[in-house]
Amino acid sequence: MSDAVEFGGVPLDRSARIYVAGHRGLVGSAIWRKLEAEGFTDIVGRTSSELDLKDRGAVFEFFRETKPRYVVLAAAKVGGILANNTYPVDFLTDNLQIQVNVMDAALEQRVERLLFLGSSCIYPKFAPQPIHEDSLMTGHLEETNDAYAVAKIAGIYQVQAVRRQYGLPWISAMPTNLYGPGDNFSPQGSHVLPALIRRYDEAASSGAPSVTNWGTGSPRREFLHVDDMASACLHLLDHYDGPEQVNVGTGTDVTIKEIAETIAKVAGFEGETEWDTSKPDGTPQKLLDVSRLTEAGWTAQIGLEDGLRSTVKWYREHIDALRV
Ligand code: NDP
Repeated sequence: MSDAVEFGGVPLDRSARIYVAGHRGLVGSAIWRKLEAEGFTDIVGRTSSELDLKDRGAVFEFFRETKPRYVVLAAAKVGGILANNTYPVDFLTDNLQIQVNVMDAALEQRVERLLFLGSSCIYPKFAPQPIHEDSLMTGHLEETNDAYAVAKIAGIYQVQAVRRQYGLPWISAMPTNLYGPGDNFSPQGSHVLPALIRRYDEAASSGAPSVTNWGTGSPRREFLHVDDMASACLHLLDHYDGPEQVNVGTGTDVTIKEIAETIAKVAGFEGETEWDTSKPDGTPQKLLDVSRLTEAGWTAQIGLEDGLRSTVKWYREHIDALRV
């Protein structure tokens, strides 16, 4: 694979119809806000109860009626380690069905630009850090989310196949860990950062003397605010036109301990944080190489503490209406 970033994407026409699949989710809702802020005037979305993207016939009918010129595919079955590990069939087949249906129907309508969203878990468990896009398919996947990862890898190949066979300039982006307003804070389904926000907020409001987290706190992880993610997605749609997936991250990582301390601070928790070192730590480091994105002209803008502060505020304002 080549290292050269391929530019030449024609900026999207702000008056054309754009369909955001998964527009109520963490990523989709941020993309919707970004499109509105950038002057898009014909944004279309459907909830899963209005349009189940696993229903192939309904998806084709929707595309025939709606005829979007652009598509952002941010609908997926998403979850943390526990959910991925417990329901691998759902994560594999739901995601394959959603993405194959949307991309096949989009192809039938010759959608001009489509952005497929994957995840950093597509890369091998022991990929060299920071993880470059070329690490794809060079080693074994992390077992706890391999079913989800295989579905996402299939999506990247579908985008590449459409480019090759039909010449449509579709693209893929692979975000790092995301956080922000609209996240899933449920104990069963959440990722590490929303789980920590919930834990520290509860401890702060109950006046608990201590919070216990799993592991040593030493693993390093990268976190990107979802509004930055949305900005990167639009930047790529406007400016990037290449077959290879583009990593989307900040390019820097922090320890889980640092992230926990920052969340404790912004949540106003004044007790002690303890680490249950009998519990597993997971991979020591997970950081994306974002040089391709940087070359394409985009860098993250929202600092971690600022991003966490606004996310904790959002969480508190929406605590009664969070998804379960
Ligand atoms: P969310 O769970 O927040 O949102 C997913 C959305 O998909 C929901 O709004 C849901 O719609 C929709 N959806 C799920 N199943 C169906 C279905 N059968 N039919 C129609 N719509 C459906 O996920 P995120 O926003 O976090 O993730 C979006 C994308 O970003 C995914 O591809 C994910 O892999 C990727 N990503 C996310 C990361 C993260 O940290 N969150 C990290 C890396 C990648 P509804 O609300 O109407 O039910």
